[in-house]
Amino acid sequence: MVSDAPALHALLARLGARRDVPLAPRTTWRVGGPARFLVQAPSQAPLAELFGLCAETGTTVCVLGRGSNVLVPDEGVDGIVVTFPDARSPLSLEADGRLVAGAGVSMARLSAEANAAGLAGLAWCAGIPGSVGGCAVMNAGLVTGGKREMADVVTEVTFVDRTGVVHRYGPEALAYATRRSALQGAGGCVTEVVLQAPGRGDPAALIAETRGIIADRRGRQPKLPTAGSTFMTPPGLKPAGFYIEQAGLKGLLRGGARVSAVHANWIENVGGATAADIAGLMETMVETVQARFGITLHPEVRRLP
Ligand SMILES: Cc1cc2nc3c(=O)[nH]c(=O)nc-3n(C[C@H](O)[C@H](O)[C@H](O)COP(=O)(O)OP(=O)(O)OC[C@H]3O[C@@H](n4cnc5c(N)ncnc54)[C@H](O)[C@@H]3O)c2cc1C
Repeated sequence: MVSDAPALHALLARLGARRDVPLAPRTTWRVGGPARFLVQAPSQAPLAELFGLCAETGTTVCVLGRGSNVLVPDEGVDGIVVTFPDARSPLSLEADGRLVAGAGVSMARLSAEANAAGLAGLAWCAGIPGSVGGCAVMNAGLVTGGKREMADVVTEVTFVDRTGVVHRYGPEALAYATRRSALQGAGGCVTEVVLQAPGRGDPAALIAETRGIIADRRGRQPKLPTAGSTFMTPPGLKPAGFYIEQAGLKGLLRGGARVSAVHANWIENVGGATAADIAGLMETMVETVQARFGITLHPEVRRLP
């Protein structure tokens, strides 16, 4: 809900907030309803003020990155959604191999600029369709071709907490684990991420490495709108897709949502899917795998708000 507090609405007007903005086009699943208010990447001080005012007034506020790992409900978000467009997000490369990225920088841009500058160890980032902020929260990474993840390269995160207080967190406070971080569910907002490139390399070779990763992924991934992996790998067990496939769920359709025949842990929007279709399919997948193998699947995709 959004409070009527005049101070909050004055700030929303100052930030150029837009009303009733459809979120589906901003997600890779292409589902979900509108945001009551959408605010684009204010600088840190007004952002902290916004989170502070939302906390004080009981207003719902959440962050949408590049929408590649979220399920937005069909009724939308009755609150304020903050986004960080890539074009407005700064990225600087330091002489010591550090990269300082605004939360909205796309992983593809991060990778391209690091490669061009001969900073090795970030070529893989181009394989992930998220923002640096979203990927720092999710500890995004690749498994095929060797495990590489944000935890290997993130050295500091600037975070506005749910009450508007700004923190700088190092790796220990981030408590990274596979697709997990202390920032998930914390309710605040990453504004900047500092990464350390692990080495130097020949730009042409790094660009070729990125091209290889992208080509390999294109060949193996479903072509329809998805949010990547739906469920996490159960600790110490095989990837979730193995159990979903063994349970015979590949191709299962619910409304416009389908368990991919290419990759059982991915749900495709075959056209006209609703968030309820996807959520219902996820429920069936969890129940079926639980009944068949006694294994509880936990979602990797996050729900807004
Ligand atoms: C085709 C495809 C392939 C994929 N492959 C991979 C893969 O190989 N490996 C992998 O790890 N993931 C993969 N993903 C999933 C996804 O790209 C990652 O989880 C990514 O980290 C999400 O980033 P995002 O910016 O899109 O975040 P969103 O999906 O917008 O948000 C995800 C969560 O992070 C929060 N969030 C986003 N930005 C911020 C911020 N600035 N501050 C605070 N919270 C924030 C959101 O509130 C939400 O809870 C894939 C997705 C797709 C569609």
